[in-house]
Amino acid sequence: MARFAGMARLQQTVFERNVPARSVVDHALGGTRHAVFWQDDAGTDDIRPALSAPTRADVAVVGGGYTGLWSAVRAKQRHPGARVVLVEARAVGWAASGRNGGLCMASLAPDRESGRGRSDDSGSLTRLGQENLAAMESAVGELGLACQWERTGLVDLAIEPHQVDLLRYAAARATRDGVPHTYLDRAKMRAEIASPIYEAGLVRPDAGALVHPARLAAELARAASELGVEIFEQTRVTRLTLPGRGTNSDVVLWTTSPAGEATVRADRVILGTSVFPSLLRRYSRHTLPVYDYALATEPLSAELLGAIGWRGRQGLTDLANRSHYYRLTADNRMVFSGHDAVYHPGGRVSRAYENRPETFRRLTEHLLTTFPQLEGIRLTHRWSGAIDVSTRSCAFFGQAAGGRVQHAAGFAGHGVATSHFAAHVMLDRFDVVDGAPDTERTALPMVRRPPVPFPPEPVATAGIRATHWSLDRADHQSGRRNLLLRSLSRFGLGPDS
Ligand SMILES: Cc1cc2nc3c(=O)[nH]c(=O)nc-3n(C[C@H](O)[C@H](O)[C@H](O)COP(=O)(O)OP(=O)(O)OC[C@H]3O[C@@H](n4cnc5c(N)ncnc54)[C@H](O)[C@@H]3O)c2cc1C
Repeated sequence: MARFAGMARLQQTVFERNVPARSVVDHALGGTRHAVFWQDDAGTDDIRPALSAPTRADVAVVGGGYTGLWSAVRAKQRHPGARVVLVEARAVGWAASGRNGGLCMASLAPDRESGRGRSDDSGSLTRLGQENLAAMESAVGELGLACQWERTGLVDLAIEPHQVDLLRYAAARATRDGVPHTYLDRAKMRAEIASPIYEAGLVRPDAGALVHPARLAAELARAASELGVEIFEQTRVTRLTLPGRGTNSDVVLWTTSPAGEATVRADRVILGTSVFPSLLRRYSRHTLPVYDYALATEPLSAELLGAIGWRGRQGLTDLANRSHYYRLTADNRMVFSGHDAVYHPGGRVSRAYENRPETFRRLTEHLLTTFPQLEGIRLTHRWSGAIDVSTRSCAFFGQAAGGRVQHAAGFAGHGVATSHFAAHVMLDRFDVVDGAPDTERTALPMVRRPPVPFPPEPVATAGIRATHWSLDRADHQSGRRNLLLRSLSRFGLGPDS
């Protein structure tokens, strides 16, 4: 309470009103490993060889996360005769793609269903998002991707009384748009999933699926190799040379690895480098890394699961501005993530940022407030990773060399599905270079218009801190957003533009 003395207009959030006992939190956190549950669970594949000699490709892909892997797979499926080479600085799936929450969401941009979002292409984006999810599900079947895909749908949760109106608004929109949904009031929601903090819920059966993130990355790499993609790990591209204007010569990727230095000469290049420094200087300030944190419990007993319910196993997200997202794993652990999103001045990706005891403690408290039935449970893993955020919080698409180099990133927390969409956008754009007409995907304003870049430091840090402070403030003021958040939203910028 002391924190709130003198802040009369600020209300405590449900997590501050119901803080679990320190001893319960200590017990839960006591034996955790600072390691990514998904990567532990998937086991390690042998690292593929590094690139040791100059090579040539029709399509060269940089980055072995979902964006690069889906691009390589789809490129090979579209053009089986093409030579496709993928180079990855470390190992396939080590970064965000191997450590995310595994909520594979149909929506291609954040928050559209909550009524806060803004988009001039939201109608077609919604349909394209559904088609994208369906195409991923087909690919899981056709390529035999053993990634624990579960078409569970998603539930949006009101955890404060003022959020109930947002859900009602979203339900009304879903009714208008013919989107399958069920609105559950407080009693019905708690009967479905027994949490004392739920005020209402919107069940959206078509909105998403669950996936084992690290297995998806590993399986995409396997499928890509089987299709004939050559994958080189531990191979970092240090720079890229674009062909002279009007010439058709190759793009050159300069690489370094334990095997030495080498080059990849390529007719077409796809950059799936996410939060890492862009190889195209013009996009160097289009994404920044924001760290997100996650916990995994030990497998829940049948008795505990029975006490919680959650028979639909849906991916869950609450409607706080600093929201949580959580899910069950195939062996019935709970993976619980969100709330703190931390930007470090300078915008670097660094292992040093991955362990943040105060955040893991807060997240554990929030987990136990959400499900007090879990008192006495042990957490097994705690980890974090960098999310690629752009100024408009949804994917951006860049290009160079007359479209022969494509770049997509900035998926915010929506990259599991959006990366697949982005792969198709970039391959469509290659076809456009060859004279094909624009596709529905390439014609989208979201694809055509890159967002404004982040400002240089220290303005970037100041802006991001002010935005995070404002979001937190809104959660303490019945969701009311201040002038900064309203202005960002008006200009198509910020957390849910
Ligand atoms: C903790 C966490 C939870 C998340 N939860 C969700 C969720 O539930 N749902 C959702 O939709 N999204 C979620 N996300 C976001 C999602 O994981 C990402 O948007 C997505 O994985 C991005 O994929 P990517 O391939 O673009 O990037 P990455 O997975 O980051 O892969 C980029 C790869 O490029 C390589 N690379 C970079 N530069 C070079 C270079 N110069 N040379 C060679 N290789 C290079 C890197 O080594 C890396 O492997 C989460 C992210 C995090 C961190």
